[in-house]
Amino acid sequence: MNNKIFKDVAEAQTACARWQRILNLRDWNVKVEIVKGENISDSRAIGGLNHFDHHRAAWIRLPRPEDVEPGIFGDDDDQEVTLVHELLHIFPCLRSSDDPSLSQRNLEIEQLIETVSRSMVALDRHGRGSEYLEFYRKDNEATCIN
Ligand SMILES: [Zn+2]
Repeated sequence: MNNKIFKDVAEAQTACARWQRILNLRDWNVKVEIVKGENISDSRAIGGLNHFDHHRAAWIRLPRPEDVEPGIFGDDDDQEVTLVHELLHIFPCLRSSDDPSLSQRNLEIEQLIETVSRSMVALDRHGRGSEYLEFYRKDNEATCIN
């Protein structure tokens, strides 16, 4: 998979709006920033997310490609995968906990999100992602799926 590096923050923001539609997060106001790696809140993370649930607002930080360190989760320099990864954390069930007893759960959430975000971006780059997902959403809009 060819890595995607956004040419500027405007392109990242446009991609964010598109992925919000695909992920059914259109009612969120999400702002994207591309920052120095050290300004990502958790030094082990490739991206950062702050969310303000009452306002349905979120702030995603993507590291500059030159600041991505190898050996951490999702250690490639694909900013689109990182963007989708952080968007998925907006869903409350896919958020990490600060409680140390939940570290195994956090790891499982990260593994799940990493797999899902890479798969979605890969499908999308093969021209298959969006139409499947649009179809899926329309089909299930009024249904609670277990
Ligand atoms: Zn994560």
